[in-house]
Amino acid sequence: MKNIVIFGAPGAGKGTQSDFLVEKYNLNHISTGDLLRKEIADQTELGKRIKSIMDSGSLVSDDIVVEMIDNAIAKSDRGMLFDGFPRNIKQAETLDNIMRKHGREITCMVSLDVPREELIRRMLERAKTSGRSDDNEQTIKHRLEEYERQTKPVADYYKQQNKLIAINGLGKIQDIAANIANAIG
Ligand code: AMP
Repeated sequence: MKNIVIFGAPGAGKGTQSDFLVEKYNLNHISTGDLLRKEIADQTELGKRIKSIMDSGSLVSDDIVVEMIDNAIAKSDRGMLFDGFPRNIKQAETLDNIMRKHGREITCMVSLDVPREELIRRMLERAKTSGRSDDNEQTIKHRLEEYERQTKPVADYYKQQNKLIAINGLGKIQDIAANIANAIG
């Protein structure tokens, strides 16, 4: 049973490659962004609290996402794909603890590497059709800053555990998927 973290800056192609990984390894797709957007769409108390934070492109508090992740792991009867989590070192440490508590372990992290100019180009393209309120130029820049400052160090956390698989995120979607599959084995 594989438990994989898909990692990369916003716009790196995590969502696209997640679809492929979920299918290939029969995984539960656990996306904190999707879970949070559902809270907003359902207009829950939590959703009302986090909407302005998400619209600004900042990260919501660790407690909120950690609780969501803990519940999702407890319910999962399959391997899991974590998408959008962990977003900082604290979340990465917490994920290890929660996995241990449930008798599981992260198998590897797949990191998609894409240059900044290409990330911005892709996100502005996606903004035309995504309907996401955080897909606009100002918020995109802030999300990239948050990524650089808080999220990027998470790759080193997995590198130190020999679990980091770095993949070039430029090129054809199928070629990138094939490279990931080869690397995971
Ligand atoms: P995403 O769909 O992964 O790009 O996430 C969209 C937004 O949801 C982010 O800009 C954050 O505001 C919030 N978010 C998603 N995952 C996390 C996380 N693990 N920790 C904190 N905030 C998150």
